This record gives sequence, C-alpha cells and structure tokens, in this order.
Amino acid sequence: MDVYDELKLSYSGDISNESWIRDYYSVDSSYHQIYPELVCFPKDKTDIVTSLNCASKNALSVACRGAGTSLLGQSLSNGLILDFTKYMNKILDLDIQSGTVTVQPGVVKGILDKELKKQNKFLPPDPASSNYCTIGGMVSNNSSGPHGLGYGSVLKYLDRVDFIYSNGEEGFAENGVCDSRLKKILSPIISIQDKLASYYPDVSKNSCGYRLDSVFAPEFKPQNIFAASEGTLSIFDSLRLKILDLPIFRSLFLVYFSDVLSACLYTKKILSTVPVAVELLDYSVMDSSIKLNTVNENGCLLFIEYFYQFRDKISDTHDLLKRSIYPGGKIVEHAHDIVSINKLWHSRKNALNMAIKNTVGNRRQFTIIEDTAVSIDHLHEYVVYLLSLYNKYDLQYVIYGHVGNGNLHTRPILDNHNNSEGDLHSKQARILQKMTYETFRKVFEYRGTITAEHGDGITRTPFIKNVYNNFVYSYFSSLKKSFDPLNLLNPGKKVP
Ligand SMILES: Cc1cc2nc3c(=O)[nH]c(=O)nc-3n(C[C@H](O)[C@H](O)[C@H](O)COP(=O)(O)OP(=O)(O)OC[C@H]3O[C@@H](n4cnc5c(N)ncnc54)[C@H](O)[C@@H]3O)c2cc1C
Repeated sequence: MDVYDELKLSYSGDISNESWIRDYYSVDSSYHQIYPELVCFPKDKTDIVTSLNCASKNALSVACRGAGTSLLGQSLSNGLILDFTKYMNKILDLDIQSGTVTVQPGVVKGILDKELKKQNKFLPPDPASSNYCTIGGMVSNNSSGPHGLGYGSVLKYLDRVDFIYSNGEEGFAENGVCDSRLKKILSPIISIQDKLASYYPDVSKNSCGYRLDSVFAPEFKPQNIFAASEGTLSIFDSLRLKILDLPIFRSLFLVYFSDVLSACLYTKKILSTVPVAVELLDYSVMDSSIKLNTVNENGCLLFIEYFYQFRDKISDTHDLLKRSIYPGGKIVEHAHDIVSINKLWHSRKNALNMAIKNTVGNRRQFTIIEDTAVSIDHLHEYVVYLLSLYNKYDLQYVIYGHVGNGNLHTRPILDNHNNSEGDLHSKQARILQKMTYETFRKVFEYRGTITAEHGDGITRTPFIKNVYNNFVYSYFSSLKKSFDPLNLLNPGKKVP
C-alpha cells in the first residue's frame, strides 16, 4: 500500500496526490520551489496525528501551511504538506471578559479582524498580508506589521498554545504552566537564561532563530517558544491570543522628505512624539494615487500614526510632530477619520506588490536582505552604509518598511538578461553574495537581526548562527532534537 492509500484509510479530511495540486503547493511567496509528495487537509487533531505517524513510518517530512505568503520558503516540503485553511479555520472562543480569542491555526487574520471589530476589539499585529495570511502562519513567523512600533509582534499576544509533538503526543503551554515533556525540554535552559538572553539582538522585533529570550523573563511563558518556530517544533492545534480595545481616535500624517536618508535621520526625533507607527515608503514603491499628489522623484514619505483616547489631543499632536520634523520634513496629508486613514494606509500596504511590479522582463528582486533591523541609534548610519553598497555594486533597489522599528524591507534588483535559463548569471550571483555578506556583517556589528518579522525559512537559515554564536546555536539544535528527534517537522529550517 502506498502512502496515499495508507492515509486515506483513516483520514477525516482530504488528501491529494494530483499533480496540479502538488504544483500549486510547490511554491509559496518566495523564489523556492519544492514538490510535495502529498497535500493533506486535516479536519482535526486526529488527522494531524495520523499524518505524523504515517510520515514517521515512511520517512517523510511534514510542513504546515497557512496561506503560503511566507517569503523565505518556510511552508515548502518534499514530504507531506498540511494545509489548515480548508477545515481547521474556526474561531473557537471569543472571551470578552478575559480579553482573549481562541482560534484554529487556519483562521485568516482579516476574517478574525472583522469578527473582533464587531466587539470593538482587535489583535494588533497587522501584516500587510492580513487579508489572506493565517493566525498559525503569523505565530510561526512571529509576524508584525506597520503597528509593530506601538504594539509589538504576535509573540506579545500569545496566551496559550495547544499542539502536537512530532510523535503524535499532545502538549500545551500557557503563562506559568505547560505539559511535563515541555517542562523537561526547557528546564536545562533555566540556569543559563540570562547568559543566553545577553546574546540576542538589540532590536525591538526579532524572528531569527528560536525566541528562548522571551520564555523565562520577566515571567515563565513557555508558549513563546513557538513564536517564530516556523513549524519546526510542533504542529499547532489551537491558539489563544490576547486582544485589545480598538483605539477611539486616530490620526495619520504623511510627511514628505527629499530622500530616504533624511527620513531616517529624523526618525528618532519623531519617536519622541510617541506614535504607534512610523513607516517608510520610497518613491520606487509608491502607487500612482499617492505619488501624483505628494512626492517628487527620489523623495519618500513617512506614514506616522497616533492613537488616543481624547479628541483634543489631535491639534497638540499635529504641533509636536511639526516641530519634530522641522526643517527637513513637510506634512503633505493628514487624516483623522477611519475611512480616509484606511485609504491612505492602502498605499503603504501595497508596497510589496508595487515592488514586485518593478521586476518586468529580466529584472529580478532578491529577498535575502529584505528584513534586517537595527536599533534606532544605528538606523541612519546603517542606511548610509546600505545605500553606499547599492552604489558600489551599481544596483537598482526598492526600499520601504518599518523604520520606527529600524526594520527595513529592501531588495536589490538584478538584471539577468544574459541568461535564458532563468538562473542567476554567475557575475550577478557573485554581486548578490557580496552584497548579502557585507550587509549582514554590518547588521552583526550593530547587534541587529537579519529578520525582524518575515522569518528565516530556507533562505536565511544558514546565517542564523552568525546572528547569535555557537553557544546559543547549540541550544537551538538541542531544542529541535528534543522536540523532534526524527527531524520530521519542516527540516532544513531554523537548524540545518
Ligand atoms: C504581500 C505580502 C505582504 C506581507 N507583509 C507582511 C508584514 O507586513 N508583516 C509581516 O510580519 N509579514 C508580512 N508578510 C509575510 C507573511 O505574510 C507573514 O509571515 C504571514 O504571517 C504568514 O502567514 P501564512 O498564513 O501565509 O503562513 P505560511 O506562509 O503558510 O506559513 C508560515 C509558517 O507557519 C507554519 N505554520 C502554519 N500553520 C502551522 C501550524 N498549524 N502549526 C505549526 N506551524 C504552522 C508554516 O509551516 C510556516 O513555517 C507579507 C507577505 C506578503 C506576500
């Protein structure tokens, strides 16, 4: 009996080995392509366990998948793909009293947002992909978004995880408590937690490696080990997240700067006005709706947003902001009602789509250095260096992102016109490699991270060790071994 027939015998959900389905699941939003053996759509916990047992018996890997919007290949596998969006997509409980929502991993963030809004609540992390990405994917990548400055990433909201170990055993983790196996896995780390934490990047958001630094202090939060774990430690069955009251008043300001460096120079001063978002949009990734009215070529915009309880704060904020951007920046738009604010945000959230439109013909963008973060104190210096590299290698590029967090999304654009096969021409490949090493070296020098929110995946896993050191990395390896001794779960991501 082959694997398909074996699984079919007891599966409540669906399984497919059809080639067009395997084609579809061979790609995500990265440039990688890996063909899975089978694609499964589990209906419940029992189906997850059945998939794992079958994978173990047949030496196949298992990768979970939400919407497949990851940018580094972390939802791809040559074994079984478990897609949670078809059946395991329910909101299980909304507890207004305790301020939590419990969901299955395949719930789409945009759908959850709509349900929460009816109760005047929200789950703050807001990736630009919110209309289609799932909560399981967000937790696994430790996603955030434009409001990561004021609200942090999803790790901050993770309240409880119910999960399945790779051998089919059930586990759970919430504030202060977890199942006995997880307790045993984490116990060797307790005595060295401070030393470990001291080697973590000095940044406000981080999705690189495993977030051991967030498990023990200030209180024991074993559930945090799953944030940014990319499906390599366990499979989520359900997730409980903290939710907040929607802000009462909001103001969004669009501030024009003559170039990216000037915008970065003013960012620290702007942060002193306590915004919840400071987002950069360079001319190269602006859509026409915003470009026409506000910006000259080479210019850029900062999207700066404030939330408050009282309306009379609006004019104070306006004055404060004006002072903080003087004389380099100029307010070119502002909005204070939700419809106008959302309309303006659309242009910022569309940045990646605009970036992709830059790659017509032989032009290709490369995602490897696209999610670095450094502390605000190093931001301007870092961007000076980054732009000098683009200049040195004569590369076009796009740049935008969460400058308030020191987190820039930038991609070099390479022209591959001499190579009909679609692979990178060797000269171009060498340039890309140099650009990557030189950028990352600077990031390490500033104790930054190579990924603030998008994750490591296939592309960045080889560099994780350099963000930390052998000491920390040895704990990442032993953590993975304790959770998943047969290396079934998403192998090749996080630890090679
Ligand atoms: C246009 C665009 C804009 C984006 N903007 C942002 C942004 O602003 N901020 C940001 O942080 N990211 C952004 N991203 C990246 C991406 O959308 C997010 O990381 C998103 O949260 C991934 O969700 P997903 O459902 O697509 O997950 P997938 O890509 O399907 O999977 C992500 C990871 O989650 C794991 N996983 C899924 N389900 C489970 C489960 N049940 N158990 C264990 N592991 C599981 C997978 O194995 C994989 O490792 C963007 C991507 C695109 C394409």
